[in-house]
Amino acid sequence: MNLIFLGPPGAGKGTVASKLKDILGLPHISTGDLFRAAIKNETDLGKKVKLIIEKGELVPDQLTVELVKERLSKDDTAKGYILDGFPRTITQAEALETFTKIDSVINLEIEKEKVIKRLSGRRLCKECGEGYHIEYMPPKKTNTCDKCGGELYTRKDDNIESISNRLEIYTKETQPLINFYTEKNLIKNFDSSLAADKVVENVANFTKSL
Ligand code: ADP
Ligand code: ZN
Repeated sequence: MNLIFLGPPGAGKGTVASKLKDILGLPHISTGDLFRAAIKNETDLGKKVKLIIEKGELVPDQLTVELVKERLSKDDTAKGYILDGFPRTITQAEALETFTKIDSVINLEIEKEKVIKRLSGRRLCKECGEGYHIEYMPPKKTNTCDKCGGELYTRKDDNIESISNRLEIYTKETQPLINFYTEKNLIKNFDSSLAADKVVENVANFTKSL
């Protein structure tokens, strides 16, 4: 089963997809995570994309498509995958069609005001990447990961300027994908303002019908 997660930044794509990964036993492929790993490891790719990502702009389509194409060629995607954060432009969606077939597009809907609150309070574990929110999903111990005890940090693009940039780019570049996939009868909408566990449950139930 090949799934795409669509939605504005802060809709909870990463949170929901990483929980669904365990339920469905499919790899969770987040282009944002792949880029951040490249930045952390100071690879050539990481050096190219660091400033772009910090500002909240989009990495060029060609670089992104190559990265995804290579990732989807790995053996662990044989039974399917969950794509999170890709495609983000019509060009990327068209490229994706040339090398794989999508079964469903999970569209996470949320108002923009909520997104800003979610992103500005988001914290992530330096060690294992687990996500938290200072208000909505706080760790048991301040600034410390429940799972591994790692220290939490704030993403460089979770500042107000980059957040508004990301939202503007979402509206202009990514939102048109909703029509693109609606025309192909692939879209399924979910209310993503609900608690994460509820969204996970709703999406998991839906995937049983696929
Ligand atoms: P969010 O959905 O919260 O904005 P992601 O982790 O998905 O965060 O992405 C972080 C950043 O990585 C984006 O703002 C962008 O700079 C880059 N990026 C991720 N996926 C893509 C993509 N498909 N195309 C271009 N840039 C991307
Ligand atoms: Zn951790």
